[in-house]
Amino acid sequence: MNSQEVRSKFLSFFEEKKHSIVPSAPMVLKDDPTLMFVNSGMAPFKEYFLGNAQPKNNRIADTQKCLRVSGKHNDLEEVGYDTYHHTLFEMLGNWSFGDYFKKEAIAWAWELLTEVYGIDKDILYVSVFEGSEDDGLGMDTEAYDIWKEYISEDRILKGNKKDNFWEMGDQGPCGPCSEIHVDIRSAEEKAKVSGKDLVNQDHPQVVEIWNLVFMQYNRKANGSLEPLPNKHIDTGMGFERLCMVLQNVQSNYDTDVFKPIIREIETITAKTYGKEEKADVAIRVISDHVRAVAFSIADGQLPSNTGAGYVIRRILRRAVRYGFTFLDKKEPFIYRLVDVLSNRMGKAFPELKAQKQLIENVIKEEEQSFLRTLDQGLVLLNRIVDETKSDTVSGEKAFELYDTYGFPIDLTALILSEKGLKLDEKGFNEQLQKQKNRSRAASEMSTDDWTILAEDGEEEFVGYDTLEAQVKITRYRKVTSKKDGDMYQLVFNLTPFYPEGGGQVGDKGYLEDAHGDVVYILDTKKENNVIIHFTKNLPKHINESFKAVVDAKQRYRTECNHTATHLLHQALREVLGTHVEQKGSAVHSKYLRFDFSHFSKLTVDELRDVENFVNRRIEGKLPLVEMRNIPKEEAIAEGAMSLFGEKYGDTVRAIRFGKSIELCGGTHVKNTADIWHFKIVSEGAVAAGIRRIEAITNDAVKDFYFENNRAYFEMKDLLNNAKEPVKALQSLQEENTNLKKQIESLLRDKAKNIKGELKNELETINGVQFLAKKLDLDAAGLKDVAFELGGQFNNLFLLLATDQGGKALLSCYISKELVESKGLNAGQVVRELGKYIQGGGGGQPFFATAGGKNPGGIADAFENAKNYII
Ligand code: ATP
Ligand code: MG
Repeated sequence: MNSQEVRSKFLSFFEEKKHSIVPSAPMVLKDDPTLMFVNSGMAPFKEYFLGNAQPKNNRIADTQKCLRVSGKHNDLEEVGYDTYHHTLFEMLGNWSFGDYFKKEAIAWAWELLTEVYGIDKDILYVSVFEGSEDDGLGMDTEAYDIWKEYISEDRILKGNKKDNFWEMGDQGPCGPCSEIHVDIRSAEEKAKVSGKDLVNQDHPQVVEIWNLVFMQYNRKANGSLEPLPNKHIDTGMGFERLCMVLQNVQSNYDTDVFKPIIREIETITAKTYGKEEKADVAIRVISDHVRAVAFSIADGQLPSNTGAGYVIRRILRRAVRYGFTFLDKKEPFIYRLVDVLSNRMGKAFPELKAQKQLIENVIKEEEQSFLRTLDQGLVLLNRIVDETKSDTVSGEKAFELYDTYGFPIDLTALILSEKGLKLDEKGFNEQLQKQKNRSRAASEMSTDDWTILAEDGEEEFVGYDTLEAQVKITRYRKVTSKKDGDMYQLVFNLTPFYPEGGGQVGDKGYLEDAHGDVVYILDTKKENNVIIHFTKNLPKHINESFKAVVDAKQRYRTECNHTATHLLHQALREVLGTHVEQKGSAVHSKYLRFDFSHFSKLTVDELRDVENFVNRRIEGKLPLVEMRNIPKEEAIAEGAMSLFGEKYGDTVRAIRFGKSIELCGGTHVKNTADIWHFKIVSEGAVAAGIRRIEAITNDAVKDFYFENNRAYFEMKDLLNNAKEPVKALQSLQEENTNLKKQIESLLRDKAKNIKGELKNELETINGVQFLAKKLDLDAAGLKDVAFELGGQFNNLFLLLATDQGGKALLSCYISKELVESKGLNAGQVVRELGKYIQGGGGGQPFFATAGGKNPGGIADAFENAKNYII
């Protein structure tokens, strides 16, 4: 059974059981501060488990892209070494939100595996939760009794809290689970050791394929459990592992999910998979990682230096490094695998196909830049090796290479061992740990349980229509972090405050009670579909009702920028072409930022056309047409664009200004005329094939023109009110260049003369020709003189100095013979004498320079120079 059939059979099975089939949510999470990436099928449905929202159908099934490379679930270091853990994998799942429970979940899992997929019952084991004294929980006998109906009792294993109790995080919904394992070893192997003894023992052919989680408790901040009002089912089956079983192979990498990618790697690298373990690991690493990186770029997460982007960058670098070390690939090649990948997976995940070109560009550029880093790192490492006197390279040095230059530690270790050197791993790990502690301390945060003041269904957002409302606080909690200290998070029954989202910043404002007491709302954010208002203090009369008021000025400026963002998007597609796609946007009150796919720098003419296009629509006074709660299909049919990486419901909100129409939850001006004017202030590259425009509107444009005008007049003033300041500036520049040339040639002449004079001033001390002298030359002039004399005289010791613009410079020249015979070293001389001019420097044994900030000390330096030769 090929993988496409495996996937579609799963979905149609649950569709028949009255489940709604939904597409995979984007992999990068936007409104969950506890999680960067979706790491299990349930993550996109957290709002339902937490009771913050109600699904339309309380039975759902899907296949979800999951990434396990950070936080609680991190399989990164396993990947490549074993044959069944991936960074990115698909999790097939079925859910019941307060609907069916253990009986149906178990019955259907069994039916699907044994009847639909036809897996032999005799290779299956299941597990149930054995109970936990800490939590005061007994064994899950309910699940045990149901399983007994399907499978013989000697195949039902009891598992501990680690394997058989699933928790979403430190807090929140959790419950016992039943895992289903397969034993795909040969009959011979099975005869030797029973599969029962290998379950959960990291055996590559006795692996877990499906986990059925029975959500029935809530874990509170103090660690105690309380029963959930509604019980839920959450199941997750590893798609690639299921394919392995159904295709009768022994490794996920031998399924049709990975084989085509591996074949392509073989072609490109001229290596054969299955011949040598180290190369095999590398091939598995690369075939896995290219998927993770490609999928996340498709979901809008590009590699970068921080947060989720940094995680992606590290995955790609891991792949590059394995290719570099074990497959001998010193130039970019991973991007060439994207073609095969998008051919294989493009049907199930159209975002891959649609963005293939972009994904290739981004990966290729990342590869190039990391390969350059590796090259530089190798040079630095060689230098470290040269400087190391013992047989061990210090952990600190290796850490610096790793931390500052991004040079991987395992590569350092490998290269050192090839050179017969050791690495002080302990020292390295200490440095690493120190760094981790520092960043952990900076990001540490504690969150109290919610204090519930009033039971409330969904919190209503009224901020599209009003900036003021009478509200009640339904719940609040305290959050403490190093960065912000104590903060409170408040939830209302309804709110006019727009929560950060769709690129637009959250509203600010205040709450006022009937006594005139005021609390400021510093920010508004959405978390698992709840709108959270951040305050520094808790309102005094917390149970009363409040007038909630949004800062109207900030909101208005932000709206100008948001509407302008839509017009800019339209303009770019019009002026540059429809390949332009939004790749990120930030809408602030002061400016807007828009990232989009496009392959080259915008010309001045293009920028002007884009600006004019937007301004014409502002002048056109286009009214806002808002369509709330329309079916997504209808909005798309109207011409609305949906974005990759964005999660949309069945019904959407569409915003139209003239011919610009977008799916958007943000707030907008009532008429484009409100924007007054639009001005692009910068355009540049963010990554390969991605450009960024920053622009301003309204008051910010007025400020911009005012400031530019001021600068212009100041400049004109400095140019003696020249009629044509640009020309005046050009001629000044020309004049300047000419003067510089003249000075250089004068200095050269001067140096020649000086050399003639200096010859006569040489003093012979202990057979050394000595001279210490201050000259009116620049650094290059000093060097010139020194080398010239050095070429003419033997046994020379020169200390030349200059004093330019309040700075002092020392140059020391020592003939090679002296360096050898007397063990003199110019580098050491300038380091020591540099002290007198309050500076330092260095160089080679025969020539070195030092700079300092105290020209007054030059005389002292001269005074002490003789000491080196007497
Ligand atoms: P394992 O013990 O094998 O790491 P797990 O206990 O971490 O699995 P769950 O969190 O229960 O797994 O996830 C549900 C299912 O997802 C698993 O039964 C397995 O089939 C699959 N799965 C989990 N992690 C991975 C991974 N890194 N790569 C591929 N499939 C995975
Ligand atoms: Mg795991």
